[in-house]
Amino acid sequence: MTATQEINDLGSRRPAQDGTSARTQPSVVRPGFRTAAVHAGQEPDPLTGAVIPPIYQTSTFTQDGVETLKSGYEYSRGGNPTRTALETQLAQVENGSHAFAFASGIAAEDALLRSVLRPGNTVVAAAETYGGTHRLLSQLYSRWGVETAFVPPTRTDERDRLLADPSTTVLWVETPTNPLLSIVDLREWAEAAHAAGALLVVDNTFASPALQNPLTWGADVVVHSTTKYIGGHSDVLGGALVVGDAVWEDQPLAEVLQFQQFAGGAVAGPQDAFLTSRGLKTLGVRIRQHCENAQTIAEWLAERNDVERVWYPGLPEHPGHDVAARQMSGFGGVVSLRVRGGEAAARAFAESTEVFGLSVSLGGVESLISHPATMTHGSTKGTPEAPPSDVVRLSVGIEDVEDLQADLDRALAGVR
Ligand SMILES: *Cc1c(COP(=O)(O)O)cnc(C)c1O
Repeated sequence: MTATQEINDLGSRRPAQDGTSARTQPSVVRPGFRTAAVHAGQEPDPLTGAVIPPIYQTSTFTQDGVETLKSGYEYSRGGNPTRTALETQLAQVENGSHAFAFASGIAAEDALLRSVLRPGNTVVAAAETYGGTHRLLSQLYSRWGVETAFVPPTRTDERDRLLADPSTTVLWVETPTNPLLSIVDLREWAEAAHAAGALLVVDNTFASPALQNPLTWGADVVVHSTTKYIGGHSDVLGGALVVGDAVWEDQPLAEVLQFQQFAGGAVAGPQDAFLTSRGLKTLGVRIRQHCENAQTIAEWLAERNDVERVWYPGLPEHPGHDVAARQMSGFGGVVSLRVRGGEAAARAFAESTEVFGLSVSLGGVESLISHPATMTHGSTKGTPEAPPSDVVRLSVGIEDVEDLQADLDRALAGVR
């Protein structure tokens, strides 16, 4: 057993996802989200008392004997204390037992898929996945004999028909989706996957562990691009897989993934693990401001004549509003909209904001604007999964909301 496994062994603790449940169950030991985010895996350095565990910038570790390690670490691809600190933190904030940190979100996805898929298998994925996930599945895995069927998230009949085929072993979903923020009922999706003997994988990047814990609703694996809300400052790439007690081919999935992480090698380096860990500590307070600003902006945009449609799960008219209110503790920081004037107006709008930077990515403290059809989802061009070309996506940051509104107001006035 490695240090990662020992420190990450939190499986018996109470599943809770936010401060509310912590208050209603006062006798249990598991800390609330913000306490876990600040403290899990972050013990002060025993040698010096340094409050922040040092960054172990080392590739290898000296041993006491040829078969005797000093403290469980041998070589940093297999494990590094800075990565362990992040993995412990991630496991606890997602109500999982083990987490594995990778060099990017896509690297995490690739490690998971290569662990659980064999040539001849099929992945059923809810359409509206992140463009890079679509690219990985449809352009890379297709070359290795793995087919992917994309189904609209509302078409659960089609999903179940595909799940009934024994070659389908993985069900993949995001909620909220990117960029249209559709919501699926995670408990229902977990039941459908398990009834068919498939794994439910949930990409929880958009909600972040501060707002939603898919393992609590029955998911087998949570995927994160920690590049987004968890890192939170647009200064580091990273990815993570978090699991509970799921079993795959008679083996704990955690062991399968740990082997893949070591053997495949796409690990997070110590500096990246440190930055991600530092970001996660403040996610609880950042996400409140993201949600508050996004709600204000979504309501304000929905009232405007020059805006044709707004997608935000916090709006009561959003089709997934009730499910989101039940399974999330906030509606997130991403808002999508369709301006009047079609694709030309959408592009002109995205190119004319000043506080909102024109950029792919999301989840950082700074507001960003993007045109998904040509930017994040360019790889889906010409496929049924391509997002509408007149949609603009906002990643609403934590700035003063009045400044964000003034910026959008000026940019919208310019495209009229
Ligand atoms: C960005 C993103 C990814 C990919 O993560 P990288 O860190 O860019 O490799 C996966 N899923 C979602 C939802 C994302 O937004």
